[in-house]
Amino acid sequence: MPPCAGAYANHMSDDCLFCAIASGAIPSEKVLENDHLVAFRDIAPKAPTHVLVVPRLHVENVAELAATDASLLAEMAAAAQEIADRECGGEFRWIFNTGAAAGQTVFHVHGHVLGGGELGWEPA
Ligand code: C5P
Repeated sequence: MPPCAGAYANHMSDDCLFCAIASGAIPSEKVLENDHLVAFRDIAPKAPTHVLVVPRLHVENVAELAATDASLLAEMAAAAQEIADRECGGEFRWIFNTGAAAGQTVFHVHGHVLGGGELGWEPA
C-alpha cells in the first residue's frame, strides 16, 4: 500500500497508477492538491495546458463518481476552473474519457483540463 492518503486511504486500489500518483508513491508534477483531490500535468500533453484532475477516492469513471459522491465531482470542477483561471484565462475544455473505446486507459476517474491555445474539435 502506498503512503497514507488521509481519509481516503481505505478507498485506494493497490494496483492503480493514479492512486499511487495521488498518494505521492509515484512522482508527478502537481499543480494543485488538497485532502480530496490532486491535479498534475499530463506526461503527454495535448495542449499548452494539459492537467489531470484526480480524486483520491478510487472510482472508475465519472458516472460512478457522480453516483458515489456528487460533491467531490463539484470539487473537481472548481479545481479545473482554478487551474484554468491561473493558466488559460479561465477558458478550458474538460474531458472524461469513459471506457476503452472512448480512449480511457487509466480506470481511475480523471478529468482532463485542456487549454492555453486554439483547440480544434476533433477527438484526440
Ligand atoms: O483518458 P485517459 O485514461 O486516456 O487518460 C490517461 C492520461 O494519463 C493520458 O493522457 C496519459 O498521458 C496520462 N498519464 C500520465 N502519467 C502517467 C501515465 C499516464 O499523465 N504516468
